[in-house]
Amino acid sequence: MNLILLGPPGAGKGTQAKRLQQAYGLVQLATGDMVRAAIASGSELGQRVKAIYDAGQLVPDDIIIQMIAERIAQPESARGFILDGFPRTVPQAEALDAMLAEHGQKLDHVILMEVDEAALVDRISGRFTCPQCGASYHERYNRPKIEGRCDICGGTELVHRADDRPEAVATRLAAYRNQTAPILPYYRARGILRSVDGMADIDEVAREIEAVIAGGGEARSAMHR
Ligand code: AMP
Repeated sequence: MNLILLGPPGAGKGTQAKRLQQAYGLVQLATGDMVRAAIASGSELGQRVKAIYDAGQLVPDDIIIQMIAERIAQPESARGFILDGFPRTVPQAEALDAMLAEHGQKLDHVILMEVDEAALVDRISGRFTCPQCGASYHERYNRPKIEGRCDICGGTELVHRADDRPEAVATRLAAYRNQTAPILPYYRARGILRSVDGMADIDEVAREIEAVIAGGGEARSAMHR
């Protein structure tokens, strides 16, 4: 099973992707984590994209498509994957189709996490993450079980992301509206787009996503939006 989680920054894609990864044995392919890993490694590519990332802009399509293509080609992805943060532009969505066709795979579900924009700033400003595994936490809504320690990998260096500053958040929200939202009609036309209420609490969102995966009618169909 291959899924895309779509939604603006702060919608909860990473949090839900981590849960789906554990529940269904799928691989989480988070392009944001790949970009952060490239920056942290200090590689030439990382240096090229650092300023773009810090400003909250989208990294050029060719770079991101190359990153994700390498991961989709790996044997672990054959078990099924959750795309988190990809595709974010129409050319990326088209490139994804070509990659899937090349590996004899298809998309099963595209799940849009709908959230109220005002809530996103609050969610993002309280957010901190584990740079080691990409897990996301929130000062009020989702604290780690043990203070200062990542629930998933045990990492102890939980940090605020450089692009979670208010100026970068505004740029990221604009990028979502202008560059990412236009891919919704692409998937809607194929009848695989469903939406869930990303404003609900984490467990409820997870239940709605499970209902979509199970083919149930609980989640709201995004067909007519
Ligand atoms: P995320 O962790 O998904 O919010 O991504 C953080 C940042 O990484 C974005 O603001 C972009 O700078 C970059 N990035 C991640 N995924 C993509 C993508 N699919 N296309 C372009 N840039 C991306």
